[in-house]
Amino acid sequence: MTRDNPTDAQRAKLLDANADRCCVCKRPNLGLHLHHIDGNSSNTVDSNLAVLCVEDHDRHHRPGPYSTSVNHLDLSAEVIAEHKRSWEAFVIEAREDAPTVIATLAAYGTVESIHSFKLVMQWPDERIEYERSFHLLAANPDRLTDEIIAEVQAIGPHLKLVFLSEPLPIEYCPCCGTGYSRTVKPALVARLTDPTWEIDSACTIYVNPKQASLAISIFLREAHLFSGSLHLCQGRFLHYANDYYDERVPVRKSPSVRAQATAIIRSVIQEWAPATLLIGTGNHDSPTLIEDLNLPCCWETSALTHHSTGPARKGRAGR
Ligand SMILES: [Zn+2]
Repeated sequence: MTRDNPTDAQRAKLLDANADRCCVCKRPNLGLHLHHIDGNSSNTVDSNLAVLCVEDHDRHHRPGPYSTSVNHLDLSAEVIAEHKRSWEAFVIEAREDAPTVIATLAAYGTVESIHSFKLVMQWPDERIEYERSFHLLAANPDRLTDEIIAEVQAIGPHLKLVFLSEPLPIEYCPCCGTGYSRTVKPALVARLTDPTWEIDSACTIYVNPKQASLAISIFLREAHLFSGSLHLCQGRFLHYANDYYDERVPVRKSPSVRAQATAIIRSVIQEWAPATLLIGTGNHDSPTLIEDLNLPCCWETSALTHHSTGPARKGRAGR
């Protein structure tokens, strides 16, 4: 078996296909090697060559120094092949004009004192492809933000970067690269990445005319993306449940219960920004369309009489 080194053109092509990053840790500029995945150095075809940084290359061949446990399996040929396949596919998608993959930036610490940032790149199904931590200890926050934006653009010029509001508590800090990573739910990825959202999205709200409850759904073309429901619970709580969370907010003395309920639904509409808004009442199957979100008077009478409003809804909405 004779060693067959990749040509310069092949090396350039593979580095480009990997966005000049190690396909395992995604770090750039760390002395990238082309590694023969099957261990056969005469098998120099593209599919057998993985772009690896010095550290990950070493970790594959000499796992010992990087761990006290037996971890040779951590970076086996199969694992490297999977990293290569997944990362190269991600880079192709990220370079599309309207990528379906997305990048998010989360802050760690408190609003007053941000400690670090974590950049995550994910597939629409929330599978994480890339994670990298940035610490604020020494860096100037503005310069660090510029660096993070440049990093996203280096992977895909049209890749959307979403800033996740509200910092995560310090205990989730990504210091060791093992911290908690937030991802964006598939429905919201569609909302953020679909190029025809402003034309093809719709929100339907069905207002129950007899009791203080309503259901809200979001659609993109024929796909049902999201559902939520709101009802007045024991006359004392506004209970809003959706596919992702469930919360009961105590009713305040003012403004009116209807106004408080309307505000919750308006914020949902604002978040999704649907192209079309349909509000119906009456029969669920053939609702009567109404002009605006005018909640019927049962929202007020229920509050006054403290009687329960329909079946208790727990967990996911729309059942
Ligand atoms: Zn690496």
